[in-house]
Amino acid sequence: MIIKDGLLALPGEGQLLRADLRFSDERITSIASSITPAKGEELIDASGLMVFPAAIDPHVHFDEPGFTHREDYFHGTMEAAKGGVGTIIDMPCTSLPPITTKAAYENKLSVVQGKALVDYAFFGGVSGHTAEASLSGGMDELAPFVVAFKCYFISGMDSFTAVDHDQFRRILVEGTRLGRPILLHAEDPGCVKGAEARLAAERRASGRASTWRDYLEPRNPDAELVAAASALALARGREAGLHIVHVGTAEVARMVAAAGASCETCAHYLAFDEDDFGSLGAALKTAPPVKTASDRAGLWQLLTTGSISFLASDHAPAPEAEKATGDPLTAYGGIPGVGTGFPYLLSEGYLSGRIPLPRFLEASSLAAARRYGLAARKGSLEVGKDADFVLVDPAGTTTIEGKTLLSLGKITPFEGMRLTGRIVGTWVRGGAVYEARNASGPASIVASPGSGKHLTWGYR
Ligand SMILES: [Zn+2]
Repeated sequence: MIIKDGLLALPGEGQLLRADLRFSDERITSIASSITPAKGEELIDASGLMVFPAAIDPHVHFDEPGFTHREDYFHGTMEAAKGGVGTIIDMPCTSLPPITTKAAYENKLSVVQGKALVDYAFFGGVSGHTAEASLSGGMDELAPFVVAFKCYFISGMDSFTAVDHDQFRRILVEGTRLGRPILLHAEDPGCVKGAEARLAAERRASGRASTWRDYLEPRNPDAELVAAASALALARGREAGLHIVHVGTAEVARMVAAAGASCETCAHYLAFDEDDFGSLGAALKTAPPVKTASDRAGLWQLLTTGSISFLASDHAPAPEAEKATGDPLTAYGGIPGVGTGFPYLLSEGYLSGRIPLPRFLEASSLAAARRYGLAARKGSLEVGKDADFVLVDPAGTTTIEGKTLLSLGKITPFEGMRLTGRIVGTWVRGGAVYEARNASGPASIVASPGSGKHLTWGYR
């Protein structure tokens, strides 16, 4: 099959190149200025369309098995495909049981493998409850099946608790030995819990109801800075194995990059700041929360230069009953994002001229593929790699509407946002998964559940 006359986004090129791309048996077999079709060979007319490598979203919470009232693999991967994502990497902490053992991993794989529509990999986890078991053989046993390990310095989940600094130092030693990055949710419990207790006492004394300040003040930039600084202090030469997830504070990203560790940010940290809570409320609630307008500008800059390696969504939707509680402190912290991140970065980063093409490609796919051992087959349009691509009409527009998300989650802070560019198709390993041309809603999904493939470190 040949994609004919598209504007291809090839790695290392400063601009899109008009060329043809042939693929067969799931992989790209040639890229050339003009490829003559063999007799009967199928063509995709991509004239006027941009062809990007399918995005990789290296941070989603698809919650299955366990919390499938929030998200499941069928809906999560449909939403991914709609948003140009061909591979997702799923967090260990929002499954039940969490993915901290080989048995839990095997159970999860058996539950989800018949449901996924795009390719997927898993992160393993190290929870405070079970950290000693993980450190004495558990991580070793799980490592072949996961692309990194995730832990928290502060956790709101009873089923997946925070590790202490001593455990974290040993987890980083173990991860480095196993060749797997260690991912950290970096907010400092001393900062957060101290301020939460002070504000709770203040509310009791005055009888006032909780406001957004009660959520935001404890999770201020210091909480991220202290946690990241602690992690770097504990790394002691193993910084290359440390990855800080969902950074919202620009100074944290600067510090992490300068120390030789890596980090990611999310579209919501680029699109919003703390002043938006007044209008958006719980639809914007995440942990860490979005920070100041100056953080927002700083994060854009750091993503553009590469100090922030890549974009992730931290996709973690919840139903209205859990979001619209009317109380900033009890509203579920988490928002959908797997389907809106790539369209947002495409429009506001690349098509607006803010981010040059090579960095856009790294931030949306290649850097995550490299970080998580998938780059032999994922992350760029190159001969020999999987034919994972997304077709974009640059003359089209996309208006984000919660009710049209294919995710189970419909409450998004991006509601009503109008973006440049329209995704017309997402293909994974040479098969169409999403096609906007003739249908909308779930009918635009043209692959079958189970067509997504489970990937592990070193996939080739
Ligand atoms: Zn997360």
